[in-house]
Amino acid sequence: MADSPGALLSILRDGQARTRAELVQLTGLARSTVSQRLDALLLQRWIVPAEDTISSGGRPSTAFAFNPLARIVLAADLGVTHAHLAITDLHGAILAEHAGDLAIDKGPEPCLGWLLENFTKLLAECGHGLADVCGLGVGLPGPVDHQSGRPVNPPLMPGWDGFSVTTWLGSRISAPVLVDNDVNIMALGEHTAAGPQAGHLLFAKVGTGIGCGIIADDRLHRGARGAAGDIGHIGVPGSEVVCRCGNIGCLEAVAGGGALAARLRGEGLQTADARDVVRLVRAGDTRAIRLVRQSGRELGLVLASIVNFFNPSQIVIGGDLADAGEHLIAGVREVIYGRSLPLATQRLDIRPSALGARAGVTGAAAMVVDHVLAPDAVDQSVQR
Ligand SMILES: [Zn+2]
Repeated sequence: MADSPGALLSILRDGQARTRAELVQLTGLARSTVSQRLDALLLQRWIVPAEDTISSGGRPSTAFAFNPLARIVLAADLGVTHAHLAITDLHGAILAEHAGDLAIDKGPEPCLGWLLENFTKLLAECGHGLADVCGLGVGLPGPVDHQSGRPVNPPLMPGWDGFSVTTWLGSRISAPVLVDNDVNIMALGEHTAAGPQAGHLLFAKVGTGIGCGIIADDRLHRGARGAAGDIGHIGVPGSEVVCRCGNIGCLEAVAGGGALAARLRGEGLQTADARDVVRLVRAGDTRAIRLVRQSGRELGLVLASIVNFFNPSQIVIGGDLADAGEHLIAGVREVIYGRSLPLATQRLDIRPSALGARAGVTGAAAMVVDHVLAPDAVDQSVQR
């Protein structure tokens, strides 16, 4: 309903305090209706009174502002070998965080148990309890059915296929649990940080594998079955490398961090993964630098077609291999600006991740906040 408490709260979510009179003018509702809605929101602490100082003469009238501390959010970004946890307010500001090693191949129960244990510590650290938590957002390093919260044939996550992460965690924290794959939550995080100029944003994660999160018209685009953005298995013309998926010349098999590490091992270097490649680049190893730059060009080749098709305003490059600095992005830019249509590249910004290791938790928190503060959800909360 357009005039519901939830709809009124969505006006105040921009952070600006407004008086009763201003809200009457903005909504066109009767003063008594606005007052009723405000009372309902005050009762649930979604808003707080704020003194209006610019009132013209007479006694100051009360203004009302969104209360970002009305509830807190738990956000988790689980990678293949490490995890990042954060507690945020409803604006996404981080109140406490923890990063640590966690092997996802231990299976769901040990990993999610670790997650709960560490969230309990973090809650104590910032003086909150589970009763303050409005939801938990989780990113996982594999394909996820967002609706059911279950991983779907995740190649790097033995034991997780079909496991209901939402049910397992939801029964333990008594709050909504939302699950998505890590690239999607990173795209959401970058979109939140970049603001309105990033309505059409691609987030390319280049780690061991390669994936892409898509923001279209300010919304995450998951596709019909949640597989949108799986650019790692798009073929790179001219390559004959066999991919783990069985196809030939997949981008991931040619330009992923795992592929580069393997190629350097072939030259006698000690490189187990993407991070080792980055270490070599930072040490000035010309073989590693050359490979990373070439990897950027190959990624650019795939992204150039996507730029023509999708016309993004921003391409953000993240993931372990992005830590190799300008070498990767230089390769990407070289090919995209050379091959995409001028109209599509005129105002296209290709840049490194602004949030780095925090992109995932920022996006997981944003996913929960959007769910919890959706007008319908707020309306239900005030009816309780
Ligand atoms: Zn493949």
